[in-house]
Amino acid sequence: MQQGTIFIVVAPSGAGKTTLVNALLNADPHVKLSVSYTTRAPREGEVDGKHYHFVSRDLFQEMINRGEFLECAEVYGNYYGTSQRWIADQLALGNDILLEIDWQGAHQVRRLFQDAIGIFILPPSLEALENRLRGRGKDSEETIQRRLAAARDDISHVDEFDYAVINESLDVALDDLLAIVRTQRLKLLRQAERHRDLFSELKGGAF
Ligand code: 5GP
Repeated sequence: MQQGTIFIVVAPSGAGKTTLVNALLNADPHVKLSVSYTTRAPREGEVDGKHYHFVSRDLFQEMINRGEFLECAEVYGNYYGTSQRWIADQLALGNDILLEIDWQGAHQVRRLFQDAIGIFILPPSLEALENRLRGRGKDSEETIQRRLAAARDDISHVDEFDYAVINESLDVALDDLLAIVRTQRLKLLRQAERHRDLFSELKGGAF
């Protein structure tokens, strides 16, 4: 029985997932973020080993062949994968793990870990999503419509998740996320594993 929980956070782009996840990681040091491997090129400001491990397609394929990924998927033409070894190490340390992956990866992980918790981040309205996707107005209408269609496709998978967090206000959405994490930590089996001595003392005691 493991002490930690795997949390899978999925969101369509434009739902504000990254800001929310960073706020959660700052607020709760016991939640560790998995850094994925990807074949896509780094965006401006992205740091190798921090935002992603940026690798070539050849190396990614070798890693697949060696069975190094817990899950991997192609998302909009690039490959993304979660390190099997890192997850195993973090679970052995009793840490909670956060996977920021797409719905396909979420499927794969939940097949392997039935007690992994799926959290879907939703925008407060279609209009808000569209405004966020339009960003600073630098993209063409065609690009924006493509992103919107992709976001709607992602949202069509919301029913496959345990929790839905609506990101209208960052503070409220962060509180919601923290509540989900805390609830899982208080599950009886997790508590019994974490406090084995206490449980055996009390159960072997007077009541
Ligand atoms: P981006 O390239 O914008 O950072 O991410 C594109 C999509 O890939 C997002 O939906 C993101 O959650 C997903 N993604 C990032 N890392 C992984 C991963 O390791 N596995 C899977 N399946 N999806 C990932």
